[in-house]
Amino acid sequence: MAASEKIAVLTGAGISTESGIPDFRGPNGVWTTRPEAMKLVNIEDYVRDPQVRIQAWQERMRHPAWTAKPNEGHRALVELERRGTLLALMTQNIDRLHQAAGSQKVIELHGTIWLAKCLSCGRRTRMQEQLERVTAGDPDPVCTECGGIQKSATVAFGEQLDPLVLETAVVASSACDLFLAIGTSLSVQPAALLAAEAHRRGARLVIVNQGETPLDDRADVILRAPIGVVLPVIIPGSKSDSEDQSPPGAAPAT
Ligand code: ZN
Repeated sequence: MAASEKIAVLTGAGISTESGIPDFRGPNGVWTTRPEAMKLVNIEDYVRDPQVRIQAWQERMRHPAWTAKPNEGHRALVELERRGTLLALMTQNIDRLHQAAGSQKVIELHGTIWLAKCLSCGRRTRMQEQLERVTAGDPDPVCTECGGIQKSATVAFGEQLDPLVLETAVVASSACDLFLAIGTSLSVQPAALLAAEAHRRGARLVIVNQGETPLDDRADVILRAPIGVVLPVIIPGSKSDSEDQSPPGAAPAT
């Protein structure tokens, strides 16, 4: 980490579970405990069935992102950016906890729940604005410009990723000298592709994840400990200055 000058970071649900946001496929994941919730994130069902949309708006009202706070893992990555060695912070998360922690170079691969978008004209509005309409009694608020169906500005199953966002992520992954995959099972695209591309281009691959990933055999280092514990240790300077970072036997700094 200390020797790397161009670090690309990819984070998944695992970094936010420590902030109280459940993941999807884990033992306590949203889709594990409530498989029916998966239907709410399929674009075909969403467009076809008003009941799915009404339920989806209710889910958005209750989403833990509105009250969640960033944790030590998010904060450690801010330090990486401050040091100037961060090429890009790519995330599969839609909760904006990286930004809440202070990160600026965030690439939101799967969009954000903090914005709503119209599926017809593409107009984006603040999610809170739309949720206020739901609270006021409109169970499925349509676009005020064109009357189109609206949803969160996140990438549902069956939707395309923003091509510009994907391009930026691919460029960063190709150019990095270290690829840090955090809290992601690397089982969906483009996550797996980005990590594989970085490895193919000669970058070191470090995986911090509780479970196994399909790229484990290509990783230089795999860390299975909790993210909020691991990141402050492996990112130099992200712990407070009073804590001694020197390895045993190291010469004191002069
Ligand atoms: Zn519209």
